[in-house]
Amino acid sequence: MFAKIYFCNKGIELVQFARILRRFQNKVPEDFKFKESPTVIYTRSPTIGQRIFNYKQTIDSIKSNEWKSENFSCNCNDSKFVDSFHKHVITGDLRIIANKKLRNLLLKGPSYREPVNINWNRVLKEFKSGIEECQIKWTQLENKDLKTLDDWSNTIFDAIKKRVNKLKQIKRFKPRQRVKVLDRNDVKIYLENFQKDFVFVPTDKASNNISIVCKKFYIKTLLKEVGFFDTDRKQDRTYQEIKQTSEEILCSHETENQSFEVNIDKEQFQLPILLWIPKMHKNPSKQRFIAASHSCTTKNVSSLIGKCLKLIQKAHQVYCERIKNYSGYNLFWIVDNSLGVHKLLKQCDTKANNVATYDFSTLYTSIPHNKLKIQISWVIEKAFKGMNKKYIKINKFCARWSNKKEVKGNVKFVDSDTLIKMITWLIDNTYVRIGDKVFRQVIGIPMEQIVLLF
Ligand SMILES: [Zn+2]
Repeated sequence: MFAKIYFCNKGIELVQFARILRRFQNKVPEDFKFKESPTVIYTRSPTIGQRIFNYKQTIDSIKSNEWKSENFSCNCNDSKFVDSFHKHVITGDLRIIANKKLRNLLLKGPSYREPVNINWNRVLKEFKSGIEECQIKWTQLENKDLKTLDDWSNTIFDAIKKRVNKLKQIKRFKPRQRVKVLDRNDVKIYLENFQKDFVFVPTDKASNNISIVCKKFYIKTLLKEVGFFDTDRKQDRTYQEIKQTSEEILCSHETENQSFEVNIDKEQFQLPILLWIPKMHKNPSKQRFIAASHSCTTKNVSSLIGKCLKLIQKAHQVYCERIKNYSGYNLFWIVDNSLGVHKLLKQCDTKANNVATYDFSTLYTSIPHNKLKIQISWVIEKAFKGMNKKYIKINKFCARWSNKKEVKGNVKFVDSDTLIKMITWLIDNTYVRIGDKVFRQVIGIPMEQIVLLF
């Protein structure tokens, strides 16, 4: 069992909640299956990055009819921070922020959280709701009446109140008056004005740096990537503008997911947005485009496929090892990390004279869909045949081979045909949204889901 407490200020940790829970473990009813004290989980307040990054709002608010042509005007030329190649502001130099308080805060990096005054009333409030939620979930799990844990929850909360009263007496824990920088009026007004012209984004390969980009240049670059300004050669582009609205696509995704017996969670009813972050380590700086798909209608199908493909890769690996053992030829050249390379080099009979590494800039994004579908079907069918199994059995954490289909709980069974159908569907249903327009990715597939926090 878990007790989730929102970490509203440092007062929370001074209470030493886990200790109080352990002290009153004897208040948990005898007939409960889970008698252990709940594990404490603190949920955190937003980081300054979550509060100042405004690329999502920027992308959401793009109105395509305001972008008939690539031409636009901005004030970048007058700025000291203009990028000499792109002729617009793209900078990590925070001196561009005139407001000193805000600048000093941003220097601490996007994952920083501003300290908050201790407010004992809020501390009590958070514990109260955390304990209440825990009581509801725990009694549900035990299939017992909510009241059966009243004695436990009241005792715990009384102990917290006592502890807080004691802590209140200690001088160094007395609240000081301090306003968060991001809550100060002058900072708010400055930031709001600044964000009219500029976008705050994370920086590629430097997650602790904040980049600041001219907003109009940011939008134009995004629309250019999907060929929005290109009217004549739309056929051979990675993205194709489509006529359906997001709502229509989301609706058909719902029915199509049902046919795979896959549910879509409520918060997943959205299409991924396409965004970009600057690669400041390149000169001139380049862009990394990302489909932010951490929560969207294809997420559950794609995670299911991911688990299956891992198992299928393993099957091919085992098969190739067998071939290697009797023929001496290694046919499997996929490594998870550098350890595999070290091991291989050590086995070499002769010393390697040259070692070189290569980075592909357009590996996943240039594979034609029809070829991809044919090849992936071959890989899947061969694995099922080789393993001599009918199904892949998938639970919350992993996938296994199976021949018996027993329907129970959250376990899913997928056969070779269904898996191929799901992958075909996923390849055909890779959409990104930019403002009020939807684009379909018609060549290649997006890289592994990159999780970015908004
Ligand atoms: Zn500009």
